[in-house]
Amino acid sequence: MAEEKRISLIVPVYYEEEVLPIAYPRMKASLEATGYDYEIIFVNDGSRDGTMGVLRKIAAQDKRVKVLSFSRNFGHQLAVTAGMDEATGDALVIIDADLQDPPELIPDMVKLWEQGADIVYGKRKKREGETFLKKFTAACYYRLLTSMSAYPIPLDTGDFRLIGRNVADVFLKMREHARFLRGMSAWMGFESVPLEYIRQERAAGKTKYTLKKMLKLALDGITGFSTKPLTLPLGIGGAVIGLSLLGFLAVLICACTVGAAPWLWGLCGVALLQGIVLLFLGIQGAYMGRIFEEAKQRPLYIVAEKLNT
Ligand code: UDP
Ligand code: MG
Repeated sequence: MAEEKRISLIVPVYYEEEVLPIAYPRMKASLEATGYDYEIIFVNDGSRDGTMGVLRKIAAQDKRVKVLSFSRNFGHQLAVTAGMDEATGDALVIIDADLQDPPELIPDMVKLWEQGADIVYGKRKKREGETFLKKFTAACYYRLLTSMSAYPIPLDTGDFRLIGRNVADVFLKMREHARFLRGMSAWMGFESVPLEYIRQERAAGKTKYTLKKMLKLALDGITGFSTKPLTLPLGIGGAVIGLSLLGFLAVLICACTVGAAPWLWGLCGVALLQGIVLLFLGIQGAYMGRIFEEAKQRPLYIVAEKLNT
């Protein structure tokens, strides 16, 4: 089976000196098992511990290992992006360094890719060794995100996935700063196939995703994929205006029959003004949403296949 085709494994690393000596041999063995040529791209996202020392040693004895080292911490999503920019493979696999995503699944991902999938994404059937709070917030968040996004982002997936060269080339064209890779992948479409797996416990070290980083990612996910929050005041403003007009009518009827306290007119007037303000906020939001879409400068469309052109 061994052909000239190449698999690029992209591994973002941030303070992972403990885990790398265990992770690298498992990643290498799994790539060998695919029968294809391969490269492993480690992206050091500004670690200041012994991570670079370990990576230097690995790179010195294995020419298939490439290392990029950031000048500072730019974050996981940008580390993966740098790896994608550097990758030369026909298929790219993105995997965490901490072995929570088992590298042994790579050959299965590659098989599904050979069978025609453009994207094979790892779907977490179960998460081991993670706190109840993390599992709960993740479950709620993914459901909220799906309900807001115009493009369905598969539930319970992370960035552990294989993408074909065709998909990687589109990623290269999407240069937006706030990146939420799994959402961008959903936006692109393509033939996506899930591969279920049990998310393992971290092999060593502690999570590098602090609460602050997680919140930023969560916010990037929502703001990057939905302009719905911006236009929310449109509906609310409309409803408030409608209610205040009904209020006016009710007060008028009362005034003509049983009588109405004068402040009731004032109440309806305030509600009407608030409704108008909300409505205009929503209109501004609609324009902002359009500016935002334009600013991202995404490709207008993606051609997956061409015949006789
Ligand atoms: N990571 C990174 N930059 C960061 C934070 C994390 O490159 O700022 C890497 C980290 O080394 C690991 C992957 O991203 O390979 C996922 O991080 P982690 O395992 O800490 O997150 P968790 O699995 O706990 O969500
Ligand atoms: Mg992890």
